[in-house]
Order: sequence, then structure tokens, then C-alpha cells
Amino acid sequence: GSNSLKLSHSIHLQQKFYASSCSIPNVKLFLNGSFKESQSKKWIDLHNPATNEVICRVPESTNDEMLDAVKSCKEAFKTWSKTTVMKRQECMFNLQHLVKANMDKLAANITLEQGKTLDDARGDVMRGLQVVEHCCSITSLILGDSLMNISSAMDTISYRVPLGVTAGITPFNFPAMIPMWMFPMSIVCGNTMVIKPSERDPGATMLLMELCNQAGIPPGVVNVIHGAKDAVNFLCDNPDIKSISFVGSDQAGKYIYGRGSANGKKVQSNMGAKNHGVVLPDANKEATLAALTGAAFGAAGQRCMALSTVVWVGESKNWISELIERAKKLKVNAGHEKGADLGPMISPKAKSRAIDLISSGIKEGAEVLLDGRDIVVPGYEKGNFLGPTVLHGVKPTFECYKEEIFGPVLCSLEADTLDEAISIVNSNPYGNGTAIFTTNGAAARRFSENIDVGQVGINVPIPVPLPMFSFTGSRGSFWGDSNFYGKQGINFYTQIKTVIQHWRSEDAVASQQTSPTVM
Ligand code: NAD
Repeated sequence: GSNSLKLSHSIHLQQKFYASSCSIPNVKLFLNGSFKESQSKKWIDLHNPATNEVICRVPESTNDEMLDAVKSCKEAFKTWSKTTVMKRQECMFNLQHLVKANMDKLAANITLEQGKTLDDARGDVMRGLQVVEHCCSITSLILGDSLMNISSAMDTISYRVPLGVTAGITPFNFPAMIPMWMFPMSIVCGNTMVIKPSERDPGATMLLMELCNQAGIPPGVVNVIHGAKDAVNFLCDNPDIKSISFVGSDQAGKYIYGRGSANGKKVQSNMGAKNHGVVLPDANKEATLAALTGAAFGAAGQRCMALSTVVWVGESKNWISELIERAKKLKVNAGHEKGADLGPMISPKAKSRAIDLISSGIKEGAEVLLDGRDIVVPGYEKGNFLGPTVLHGVKPTFECYKEEIFGPVLCSLEADTLDEAISIVNSNPYGNGTAIFTTNGAAARRFSENIDVGQVGINVPIPVPLPMFSFTGSRGSFWGDSNFYGKQGINFYTQIKTVIQHWRSEDAVASQQTSPTVM
């Protein structure tokens, strides 16, 4: 217990991206290939969510530091954009190897700063690693189009060329995966990138930067600044930044989409979610209940693809008591403790917001069949723990249904028919993910054809596509026109340059006659 906590603390302190001259280390900036102490006067305390101890301080980068980051990216772009595609591919092969080799170190850092279990933290790294692996195919992915003889002796070639300096702004919940949705795709296309990781857990990004150095990615290709709203405003306004990739809450995402687009930047914005699991009475009961339990409460519900709402169709509603029995067995503990199924929430504020939404659901008429509000985890009494909670009899008008709770709380609704369930899901403003549980192929097909959600699982509770596809949240969960990673990601990080060339055949003959000795 406390030994492994000490171990992950000491791993934390050894890393060179923390200045540890004082007892609480300062997180450094990553500028032009080096870790640098910020000169900022404004610092944000970062707490271990399992104990609420301050483990490091994150600077709000000064304006000069942010300008330095953009300048470094702009300078590096001049050579990086002309570096051969094979060299960029080689950097991705190197990075792939290094991320794999440092999986446990990255995971320990994620558990310490974000709170999720070590298994979930490894999964966080793994899902990012898969994007890096996809980037190793850049030599095929970035091919353009061409057509000979569009007119007599005239050909057209279209190239996918990089945009320039790009920016990435990430959320707290996947501190390794989401930065890896962004910077590998951006730079392998020939761009450079300024990243502003979540101020609540930037450690994984810093470790990845150390790996970028080792992978031979030249200084300036990726820079890291820290901060919150001021840093975001800087990225939205700086004229040298051509695009913004954002993942996080609605409030920040809509704001960034508006401000960035108004400044002429390309913006992709992945936002909040309310994902429904629709259960038909013909489903495989045991498999469905296992899937619902993991997807609703795993990672303390802090996944944008968490299945936070169940819609029981017809008689499947009788299974709820068995779902409760399964949820009761989940072990809530600090993420590094053996056997933990779910860890703490990110902050006391996030926990109290979830508790308020549970209370409002009860007030509006829901029945709390499982109540995790008063949980105490021995040894971690000060942590932000919330136990699995189930609100039954929820109606679409309830506050707890309209808001994304982003905690281990399942809202349970009922429908008489599949079509009624489809209409509930389609009336929700979000469109990130959904899943149907059934053994009837025709019902599954009717669901996937008529459901207006970007990522659909059929007996798959968290249908996140692997990176040869794209992450295709839709409606209120995504603003922009090119999604993250896969073909869509290449589309986002490149623009098309079309060259139309006319080489007259007679000039080839003429040049042979005028320069007979050239050969
Ligand atoms: P958040 O919006 O609070 O923070 C995300 C980033 O935006 C951070 O870097 C933060 O510094 C910045 N930010 C926060 N508030 C801001 C503001 N008012 N103005 C400008 N910038 C601001 O999100 P979070 O709490 O870190 O992450 C959780 C949210 O992210 C959930 O809503 C979750 O659904 C969503 N999410 C979505 C996806 C997806 O792919 N759709 C994936 C992961 C997380």
C-alpha cells in the first residue's frame, strides 16, 4: 500500500522535468527540446486525488514563454516540413518502441496525478501508443492524387502538405492517450505543435517529451506550455498557429471552437457526452451486466465514452437488482492498490458536483438503489472517492440526466419498445457513443441504422475505434469537420496543394537539339 505510493512518488521526483530544489517540485516547460523552469509568478497546485496531498506545482506560462514556444515551432517547421517522410516515419518507429518500454513509468505517473487504477493507466498509454503505431504508416496515409493528361500534355497532382504550427489542448481524464491523439499525427504530417496539457495532470505529457527527444524528433518540433484559460486564449489568438485540436468539456470546447475559428484557424473540438446502453430482453444477460458494470463505473466514470445511462427495454428492467449486486462488489481504492476496480475522482469539486447531481435526481423523483456518497476508503480518508451509485426511474427532464455527471453514477431509464429507446437516445443533445445489447441481429441493425450517434457498439459497451478508423463523436459531442486520428486525422493536419503542369512534348525534342552534350 503505502510502499507502492512512496515508489510512485519517488519515480515522480526523479524525473528531470520537475525542478526539485524545493520540497514541492515545479513542473517545467518543454521549449526547443529542453526542460526549462518557468519564470511565472502564478502557479497551480497539483493534488494526488487519492490523498489530496500537493505533489507538484504547475506554472501558468508567461506571455514571453508562450511566444518562445511558438517561435521555436515556427523555426523548426522550416526544416521539419521538408524532412523526408521516411525520416519522420523512423521517428515514429523509435517513439513506438520507447513508449512501450516506458509503459509502467507512464502508468505510475498517471495513477499518481489522475487517480485511475494502474491497469486503466496502462490502457490509457496503450490507446495512445496505437495512434503512434498508426503514424508509422504515414508513407501510405499521406499519399495524394494524380491524373495524367487532364488536357493535352497537362497533368494534375495533389499533395497533402502540412499546415504549419498547430496547437493541442487536452483534458485531465486521459493524460497519455489524448496528447498522443494529437502530436504524433500532427508532426508525422510535417507540422510542428505546441501542446497545453491539462493543468491537473501534465506529467505524462512531460515524460512523452523526454521520449520524443530520445526518438530523434528534433528540438522545436513539439513544445509544451502550461496554464489554464490565459494559455488557451493565447493559442486561440496567436496568428502563427494554424489549427487547434481540443478535447475536454463543452464549456471550454465551444469557447475554443468559436474563438479559434473566428481567428481563421482550423479547429476540431471533442466535447462532453451522455452515452446510453440500450438493453433488449433477448440479450445475453451475464455478458450484458458485466459490460454495463465495467462501462458505467470503471475509471470512476471519468471516461468520455463511459456508459452513464442504461435504457432497459421491456422485461430487461428486472435485471437491475443483479446489476446492483455486481456494482456492490467493485473495490473502490487508491489506483495503485492491488485489486482496485475504481479510484478517486479528480478533485473535491468534481466529487461534490456529482453528489449534488445525485441529490437533485433523488429530489426530482429517482430512487437511489445504490448510494456511494458516504464511502470511506481506509487509509485514504481525504481522497475524492465516490462509490458506484445507481439512480433508477430517471426521466429525460431530470437535471442528473441532462448534465454529464462524469463520475461513477448510472442513470437508469425504461422504455417499452426498441423504437422508444432509440427516440430517447436521439433526443439527447450529445452524440459521442452508445451501445445496444441483444442477440437479435435484425434489432441490432435497426438500432445502428436509426441511431444518431457517432460511435455505436453492438454488444460492445465502449465502442472506441482503433486508429486505422477515426474517433467519430457527433452532434453535441463534436464541433469541427475532421475527427481525431485515422484518415480524418490526416485530413485535419494537412491541406491540399494542387499542381497543374504542362510539359509540351516538342520542348523535350527541342532541348535535345539545343544541348547535345548534356547527357
Ligand atoms: P476541461 O474542459 O475542464 O479542460 C480541458 C482543457 O481546457 C484543459 O486544458 C483546460 O485547461 C482548458 N480549459 C478548461 N476550462 C476552460 C475555459 N473556461 N476556457 C478555456 N480553456 C479551458 O475538461 P476536463 O474536465 O479536463 O475533461 C473532462 C471533459 O472532457 C468531459 O466533459 C469529457 O466528456 C470530455 N472528454 C471528451 C472526450 C471526447 O473525445 N469527446 C474525451 C475525453 C474527455
